[in-house]
Amino acid sequence: MTTLENKVTTQHLQRSAYLYVRQSTLRQVLENTESTQRQYALKDKAMALGWSEGQVVVIDCDLGQSGASTTDRAGFQRLVAEVGMGRAGIVMGLEVSRLARNSADWHRLLEICALTQTLILDEDGVYEPGHFNDRLLLGLKGTMSEAELHFIRARMRGGVLNKAKRGELRLPLPVGFIYDDDQHVMLDPDRQVQQAVRHFFETFQRTGAATATVRQIRREGVLFPRHRVGGQGELLWKPLTHGTALHLLHNPRYAGAFYYGSTKCWKDINGKVRRKMLPLEQWPFLIKDSHAGYLRWEDFLANQERLRDNAQAHGLHPGGHPAREGSALLQGIVLCGQCGQPMGIHYARQKDGEVPIYICQRAHYHRAEKTCQTIPGRMIDEAVGALVVASVTPQALEMALAVQNELEVRLKEADQLRRQQVERAQYEADQARLRYMRVDPNNRLVADNLETLWNEKLKTLTNAQAEYERGHLGDQQKLTAEQRQQILKLAEDFPRLWHNPKTSHRDRKRMVRLLVEDVTLKRGEGRVGVHLRFKGGAIKELHLPLPLPAWKLRKTKSEIVRLVNELLGECDEGEVAARLNALGLRSSCGHTFTRFRIVRLCENHKLAKRSDRLRQRGLVSARETASLLGINISSLPYWRRQGLIIGSRENLQVGYFYQRPSQEIVDRIRGRTKVVSSGTQPSVAV
Ligand SMILES: [Zn+2]
Repeated sequence: MTTLENKVTTQHLQRSAYLYVRQSTLRQVLENTESTQRQYALKDKAMALGWSEGQVVVIDCDLGQSGASTTDRAGFQRLVAEVGMGRAGIVMGLEVSRLARNSADWHRLLEICALTQTLILDEDGVYEPGHFNDRLLLGLKGTMSEAELHFIRARMRGGVLNKAKRGELRLPLPVGFIYDDDQHVMLDPDRQVQQAVRHFFETFQRTGAATATVRQIRREGVLFPRHRVGGQGELLWKPLTHGTALHLLHNPRYAGAFYYGSTKCWKDINGKVRRKMLPLEQWPFLIKDSHAGYLRWEDFLANQERLRDNAQAHGLHPGGHPAREGSALLQGIVLCGQCGQPMGIHYARQKDGEVPIYICQRAHYHRAEKTCQTIPGRMIDEAVGALVVASVTPQALEMALAVQNELEVRLKEADQLRRQQVERAQYEADQARLRYMRVDPNNRLVADNLETLWNEKLKTLTNAQAEYERGHLGDQQKLTAEQRQQILKLAEDFPRLWHNPKTSHRDRKRMVRLLVEDVTLKRGEGRVGVHLRFKGGAIKELHLPLPLPAWKLRKTKSEIVRLVNELLGECDEGEVAARLNALGLRSSCGHTFTRFRIVRLCENHKLAKRSDRLRQRGLVSARETASLLGINISSLPYWRRQGLIIGSRENLQVGYFYQRPSQEIVDRIRGRTKVVSSGTQPSVAV
């Protein structure tokens, strides 16, 4: 092995020295500052070897990143790039193998260092990867580092699992629990915390929904405790969020159960860690009655059931859930144009059955805020249904078949090209074979060369053949004439099936889902924007007018009320109804007006009745007039025609109201009645 100084040449010193500093986790960065300092101290070592301070480049942007893979480690990638471009004279790192915790990354770096004659320096010394001995040593260090990582993990995992089996694994506790001195879980002795948790579960018991619980507790102005860092640290009192509420409701700890392994973790192709929640039955460690809790196990299970039902009712499982019985056509495929989240469905009961309403209530659901938007569903369903039916026309299907035809022709062409490729490879292989056969076997050099060439040609031929087979198989999926007929027939069958009243909502929804990817609804001023994405990429946009909202309907009503009030000054209720109908006005439910409706409207809106208005003007009813005059009510019309009393029409049923007769008139009539009492008695209908 060469000495340190021999390895460092002027060539190395002309290039920069790269110091790579890394700590895998943020916690290590915070707590293990000594190691970081040791890493920076390597800088002095480089300067001792002859590099000037200005030449040392520190790459420390990977602090807090795990070394187990290169993804997301921009620093390491930059280091590799710099080395690859020959800018680095030396690469420094504490225990160099930790430069790259993953063996593949490490060996790649070694290769590149060897190619660019870059040195590597760690606390033990300087290595030249171009030299076999050094590379062997470095490779060994890398392998050992990887093995070390594996053993540490395995040992830790084993210990963890053993403890978990006994329910003694110390895990961060949710709020409301603490560990006592013997590491046993107990309820938080803080009375306020206990009360808050109990109050939460009681509220849920009463309201039956997480959102309602959050809303209720927020309305009460009650704050909820939360630990600053994942189950530890000081307590903060904050308004309850929906996330926290769900966390509490789904956590079996509150039922006194220990659990571990409720999620499954794996790394995806990009090295990102993915997590998936497992169903309760699949949890490897679940020990009931492991410690004191806030509710019974049965209550916990009942809560889970309730939450599941609620979630289904709110359409909070996008895409995944099956078409259900309700009439809302777009259930499960409708998105909110305001926030992009899946929308849920409500059904409003109306006279003519249930009416679907599309509603986006994620904000409401998660943060107890206002609902995002609400859109009446019937007109949307009708429009989308019509579009779907219209998209399955004979023309559309024929067009699709024509495209299919065209594709088949193209496939034939491609097939021919591929076959030609095989033939050509075959020819070339034959030629190579011939050349090889013709050469004098004693001429070893030429023979060897030709044999290699022949082998290559054979390999090309095999590849071409495999390619041809693969392509040919793919092309087999052609349509038969019978299939074509079936497809064309669909154009007739589809609308018939769609409009058939016997077709269930569920089937109609399935039909939509076969054709439509999703529908985005956005409520605008007086209309709804409907954005349809068909399977296969076609897009359709509709703008539908919104039916008048309730407040507008009420406004119309207030105008009508004003009109009724005016008209009642002139005529009776029946006449008012007739006049309103003549004006083309309708009640808020769309009905024509009747006398009865006007009377009810007067009652509801505290309007004075026609009779009361007349009384206010000093008029008296027929009965009162008759008693004032001391005559029979049936004789009133006679005296009215005589011009002695003045009547005003109140309405058809009650008849006339009369101006209060003066004393003179009373006397005159009383005097006259005596005269006529034996004679002509008026017998006119009132
Ligand atoms: Zn929304």
